[in-house]
Amino acid sequence: MPQFLNSRDADFDVRFTALLGMKREDSPDVDEIVAGIIADVRARGDAAVLELTARFDRLELTAQTMRFTPAEIDGIAATVPAAERDALELAADRIRAYHVRQMPENELWTDPDGATLGWRWTAVQAAGLYVPGGLASYPSSVLMNAVPAKVAGVKRLAITVPTPDGVVNPAVLLAAKIAGVDEVYRIGGAQAVAALAYGTGSIAPVDKITGPGNAFVAAAKRRVFGKVGIDMIAGPSEILVIADADNDPDFIALDLMSQAEHDESAQSILITDDDAFGRKVADAVAARLETLERRAIAGASWRDFGAVITVRDLDEAAALADRIAPEHLELCVADPEALSEKISNAGALFLGGFTPEAVGDYVGGPNHVLPTARSARFSSGLSVLDFMKRTTIARMTPAALKAIGPAAETLAKSESLEAHGLSVRVRLDKLNEG
Ligand code: NAD
Repeated sequence: MPQFLNSRDADFDVRFTALLGMKREDSPDVDEIVAGIIADVRARGDAAVLELTARFDRLELTAQTMRFTPAEIDGIAATVPAAERDALELAADRIRAYHVRQMPENELWTDPDGATLGWRWTAVQAAGLYVPGGLASYPSSVLMNAVPAKVAGVKRLAITVPTPDGVVNPAVLLAAKIAGVDEVYRIGGAQAVAALAYGTGSIAPVDKITGPGNAFVAAAKRRVFGKVGIDMIAGPSEILVIADADNDPDFIALDLMSQAEHDESAQSILITDDDAFGRKVADAVAARLETLERRAIAGASWRDFGAVITVRDLDEAAALADRIAPEHLELCVADPEALSEKISNAGALFLGGFTPEAVGDYVGGPNHVLPTARSARFSSGLSVLDFMKRTTIARMTPAALKAIGPAAETLAKSESLEAHGLSVRVRLDKLNEG
């Protein structure tokens, strides 16, 4: 059974704070191993990657066979059933259409002093996408990472996906093909991240690495940050559903289980203004947990981290949602737009009773790579901006330099940076001569 909390109870604040503070991830400390793997790949390049792939994925490769050829990708991708292919294409089209709208505008203007100012956005040259290949390999994640990169204008997009014992999910290769990925390598773990960051004889280095992975991959991404950019370190999934009594308890139960089935450390929380409805949803979850294929995982998540919270009204629900700052937030209430305006901390919002979060996982259009572990307080889901950078632009006319240069010279002097001040002064002197 999950925890039941009621905001009318005297101990509510203590229990709610404890719920927020729960440590859900027990990731092993693999940093030392990962440091060794990265150093080895930097020193020995392909040879190290090939040896580590043989050891961890039981796969003997060569520098040539490490990369899938276009013919191999075509052949394997062709085995994906038509219905799945159609669904992936629909998903890619919708994700592309959504992310095109995120493209930022360049700006350029002339201010009253005559200075021309602005900024220009450009894509990173090359990006690497890590696709987990061990326990869970998700073609939808390939689309959610690769499509925004291509929309942003990334010229070279490389994927690494481990293929333990040579086994690969054909839908992953099909998704890579649909998204326009340029290179796919059958390698994984920290060695793949190191190869993408530093390059090897046969893998050119990239500028940015995105994508989820296990503790080895996460530790490697942390370590190569600075040499390359990274997206985020994603924690276990979360869903918060705010629902009134006008919902079918079974619908809400399945929404809660859709995240719980990801991982025993996932967290599903229901907030409702009707205590009896909360109990009905908990009963519906219990019934579903009798039969769901992943009931062991979902059941453990619901038992250890699940919660049903009864509040006095929806305003109170909104305030609690802001404190939880969930990755996914469903608002199954009569006026979800109005409620949504009272909440600012959430990775993704799903409005109304006909918007199950799972639609957003696959085909809605918005990205499913979202901030977890309450980081929605200060960060956002993956977007085209993650594959772009902004360069500022300034151009002074003589009049503009005359107008603002003296202040720059004064500030340079106050910071004792003589050359700074002089670089302005010599120009001003020249202008004053003329
Ligand atoms: P993975 O691809 O992340 O890791 C497999 C690699 O780990 C292997 O190739 C190997 O190189 C390395 N490795 C394994 N044991 C090692 C050891 N003892 N020493 C050094 N390296 C070792 O695949 P996985 O293990 O199945 O993990 C997938 C992870 O990704 C899970 O944690 C899953 O929850 C997460 N995931 C998240 C999302 C998301 O969108 N957030 C999606 C899919 C998967």
